[in-house]
Parts: sequence; C-alpha cells; structure tokens
Amino acid sequence: MIFDSSTPPTFVFDFDSTLVSIESLDELIALSIRENHEPDEAGKILEEIRKITDMGMNGEIDFPESLSRRLKKAPVNRSHIKKFGSSITESITPGLPAIIKELRTKKYQVLIMSGALIDCVMPVAIKLGIHPSDVFANRAVFDESGRLTGFEVNDMAKTEGKTLHLGKLIKTGYIRGKIIMVGDGISDLEPYRKKIASHFIGVGIHKKRETVMREAPYFFTSVPPLKRHIRLLLNNVEFRASS
Ligand SMILES: [Mg+2]
Repeated sequence: MIFDSSTPPTFVFDFDSTLVSIESLDELIALSIRENHEPDEAGKILEEIRKITDMGMNGEIDFPESLSRRLKKAPVNRSHIKKFGSSITESITPGLPAIIKELRTKKYQVLIMSGALIDCVMPVAIKLGIHPSDVFANRAVFDESGRLTGFEVNDMAKTEGKTLHLGKLIKTGYIRGKIIMVGDGISDLEPYRKKIASHFIGVGIHKKRETVMREAPYFFTSVPPLKRHIRLLLNNVEFRASS
C-alpha cells in the first residue's frame, strides 16, 4: 500500500460497543419485541435472538443470514427506529467526544464505519461534529406494511465490508493517509490484518472479544489510556499531521 506521507492519517471509528456503549441493532430489536409481546414471551424470543447473534459472532452464519433470521422474529418498524434514534446519543461512550473533538481540531480525517443502521449512527455523528459524508453505515429496507426486512445492498452489510470499502476509499483518493482503526470487533481488526490499515486500536471498554484482545497491537478497557495512546500516536513522526 502506498500512502502519501505528507497527509495526516485517517481515524476510522466503529460505532456499536465503541462510540456507543450498546449494540444498536440488538437494542432496536429488543424494543420492538417488548412493545409487541407480553414480558414472558418477549423474554423467550429475545433468548432465541441472542442465540442467532452468537452464531453470527462465532462465524457459524454470515452477517446477512444473521440479520434476516433476527428480523423474521422482530417486527421492527419506522416508528421504533425513530424512537430509538432520538435517544441514542445518551449511549455515547463518556470521554470519546473529547478525543474526537481534539482530532477534528487538529484536522485529522475522522470516519465512522458501522454495520448499524444510519438512522442510529447519524444522530451520534452530528453530536460529535463528524460530517455526514464521513459516515458509512446501512440503510433500512421495509416491506409494504412498513416492517424492516433488511439492509440495502452495500459494503457495510457485508461480513468484510469495512476492509472492502476502505480499499475503495483509498482507490478513489478519499483516504490519502495511513489508516488507524479503532473498534471492538473482528470487522475492525480485519483491515489491519489485511494491511489496509497501518494501525489498530482495540477497544474493550464495553465488550472484550478474545480474538481482538489477542491480535490488537494495543487494547484498552477504559478511555484515559486510550486517550494517552492516541496523543502519543499523534506525536509519533509516522502518524503526525503535517502543519
Ligand atoms: Mg463494534
């Protein structure tokens, strides 16, 4: 990979369990099930959904399969998404807005890449001052009755979507510097494994995933050391913004 060394690096933040403390799709599904079922029944359905989520996390089924299986059990509609999106900024990880503000003030490019719905990600991006064109997430597809059936076909809906899409952003020149991934998941680690990203910062603040803990060159379980690490990176000649 050839990078323009005079261009400052690009920080790519994950959304679920990184910028926010929750897994937004799981919470959205839970909201719709609780609204449509009695507590006992809701509990059983949520347990079945948890099993499908785990199968996806363990690689037994791919992301599109896991999504469609979960949505068959959950009657998510536009009003659930709207309601959920209006309160999601309350779940922002404390301390991260200050880090992002510092990066933006110093003119680093900051992107959000997520398999979550754009309706959930965008209110957080706006709050963090990240431009909408720097947000890469999924768009909802509804059936005639207004029920969520899946996501539009795009890179973020694919298992290795982040790696794929970063490759395209490099090719088109949208990203010109080195890439630093920040996230809790395998999909955040993947671009580093594939050498698309120069650096990976594992985030274990909300979720600690074993593979990520093992393979991340740096792994943080709280915000203060993460902040110190980013400050050190910015002072490292390899990643410094030219001013
Ligand atoms: Mg995540």
